[in-house]
Amino acid sequence: MPGRSARGILDRLKAGVVLGAEGYVFELERRGYIKAGPYVPEVVLDFPDALRELHREFLRAGADVMVALTYYAHRGKLKDVGRENDLEAMNRQAVRIANEVAREGDALVAGDICNTWAYDPKDKEASSRVVRAMYEEQLSWATDEGIDFVIAETNDYLGEALIALQVIKELGLPAMVTLATTRPHQTWDGYGYVDACKILADHGADIVGLNCDRGPATMLPIIEQVRGAVSSYVAAQPVPYKTQASMPTFESLKTADGTNVFPIALEAFLCTRFEMADYARQAQALGVNYVGICCGGAPHYVRAMAEALGRTVPASRYSPAIELHPMIGARVEEKEKEFLVDWKG
Ligand SMILES: [Zn+2]
Repeated sequence: MPGRSARGILDRLKAGVVLGAEGYVFELERRGYIKAGPYVPEVVLDFPDALRELHREFLRAGADVMVALTYYAHRGKLKDVGRENDLEAMNRQAVRIANEVAREGDALVAGDICNTWAYDPKDKEASSRVVRAMYEEQLSWATDEGIDFVIAETNDYLGEALIALQVIKELGLPAMVTLATTRPHQTWDGYGYVDACKILADHGADIVGLNCDRGPATMLPIIEQVRGAVSSYVAAQPVPYKTQASMPTFESLKTADGTNVFPIALEAFLCTRFEMADYARQAQALGVNYVGICCGGAPHYVRAMAEALGRTVPASRYSPAIELHPMIGARVEEKEKEFLVDWKG
């Protein structure tokens, strides 16, 4: 039963910016429910309440879309952790939980597929068959449970992204296809990021763009070029980390002594909520239609982004009122304030 919601993704994009929220895998890893390394979303079956709660937090923070946590819930990855038999149950339950929470508000549900690690451009024909079968089985369960559209994300290869797009279109659903950007200028099969987005749009992707890997500072310049090159909707879902020209992706971030911090020692590079609010405003000004966040994302960022876009969301009820802080608030004398803040470090 495709298209579970009366007002689908394309209607909403036509009316204005859609706010996305991802980063489920990283956040649930931080909370102790997913193992860093394989990053398989075992939480879906093992601790469904933990997943339900994070969906709810994103919903309260203003997310317009509940993305089913089926990222890496594909045959290849489940085999790696010895849970291949849980494949169907994990996929169905993830979509069911996303639906359950989406109904608590007015959110859409997105099915989610991603890079499979099975695609091999040197053995394109055979590997494409394997990839296609993985997408088909995941999305048949997702459509059966009820989704509004599909996000195919972190695509390293344009070739693999095109397979995802084809499978989504065969199901008659709107497709959002976004690329990973781990290399400086090109996909792993050698297409410039802007060209690759244009090819995806020309092949019928409704929304194209980039997700993961780059923080706002190094993703938005590419997104601006994508915006200029395509007439489809554009999505940006950066990671909330301070990437920069010399370290353009979060995989390349290093401390001053040269130590790699990806993926579990990234905290020193986190953006503030204010920086993510600025990003949301900049993305909107550039004409980005789907403004989201990826790995590292958390509810406080999403609320700040929602408010930057001029919205008041359920969690806004508890948005900061720093003027009431007993040590740095408005009622504290300026001199005293300096002393207290200095002293507390
Ligand atoms: Zn990510």
